[in-house]
Amino acid sequence: MRALRYALYLLLALMGLWGGLGFWHWYAESRAPQAPRPHDEAAREVPEESARALPRRREAVFRMQEQELAQAPERTRIDPRWVEKNRAGIEKLKARELEAAVKLFEECVAGVPEETVFRANAAEACARLGNQQWEQGSKENREAGLAHMRRALELAPSREDIAQRIEQMQRLLASEDGHWTESLDHYELSFDGNRSDLLWDSLTLPPLLESIYGEYGEHFDCWPVERGREKIRIVLYTREEFHAATGIGHWAGGVFDGAVRIPVTDLKKDKREIERVLRHEIAHAFVHYAGGRSVPGWLNEGLAQWLESSDFVTRAQRVAAARKQFGDGPKIALSELGGSLADLKEEPRIQRAYQQSLLLVDRIEKEYGERLLFQMVQGCAQDKRPEATFRDAIQLELQVILDEL
Ligand SMILES: [Zn+2]
Repeated sequence: MRALRYALYLLLALMGLWGGLGFWHWYAESRAPQAPRPHDEAAREVPEESARALPRRREAVFRMQEQELAQAPERTRIDPRWVEKNRAGIEKLKARELEAAVKLFEECVAGVPEETVFRANAAEACARLGNQQWEQGSKENREAGLAHMRRALELAPSREDIAQRIEQMQRLLASEDGHWTESLDHYELSFDGNRSDLLWDSLTLPPLLESIYGEYGEHFDCWPVERGREKIRIVLYTREEFHAATGIGHWAGGVFDGAVRIPVTDLKKDKREIERVLRHEIAHAFVHYAGGRSVPGWLNEGLAQWLESSDFVTRAQRVAAARKQFGDGPKIALSELGGSLADLKEEPRIQRAYQQSLLLVDRIEKEYGERLLFQMVQGCAQDKRPEATFRDAIQLELQVILDEL
């Protein structure tokens, strides 16, 4: 029995670790690889002050903390049926059946209200369900997501990460107050209806957005809206609103947090840059739909950058610029690039991580074809790591390709 109990402790600890690392992806973007772009007007407008503040501002990007797990229940004083329900809840959580997990843990909490392990597990499950609903897109789901997150805080009032997430969700909901919504075939476009520039120029966005959907649908072999997902939400802000809503610095190009959020100053003038940012963030949306939450940061960011341009010449120029900046310095181990690249903290290292990710994705495409890249994403949805998909397809370790970069 003792062995069984320790196995349960270990499982709980692993769940906590997994929850902390992969809890949600808050895809905050910098202006990504700062490759020189001679015609990039928008980039030149970034004030120097903002550029200097970049590393500090990255710290402000909110992410979930690792959950601290309380001790597992003592079997001697807890009715075994609750222990069993708790175990079943952990299994459901592992299988990503979040609603079922919440139900089981809530039953445990109702049965033994003073048991901290049950409350902690119920909080974790509620928070994950809240995030999942939030990311689904519709207003109803976002509100349900917020409600579950509030319940999670009720269960675990000391979890500051949940409190911060609630604050963030409320801020994001409020940021769209008074926005007009325009429904396209595959998108929901949300913007301030008082901005006559957007009202007028938003006419130019639908064809661009729909063509990106078709292109990425083919690439990823993934048609989220046709398979019943909510339409992809695109929220347009002024720079100030974007900063207020996301807490991300003025330097940011955009963000994907279940919705694509981008600051737009002058749609006509910055069309090229806005198209680049939209392609980048919508790529993250497709990575999320096709590969789930476990797609590593290097593949996610590598692909998003690689897809930024639809024309081969510009793409080749960007890869060449990244190549030049990356130089012959040391590579960053893929094991360090599993989460958000912003986790690397130091700005130069983050830049190198973006560059290396683009270079690796480009090398894989050049040597083995782009299909393999998208298969690596799809594999993640079946808990198959990209390295394994690569090995099975090519009979070679991905590390060898990285070493040769
Ligand atoms: Zn990105």
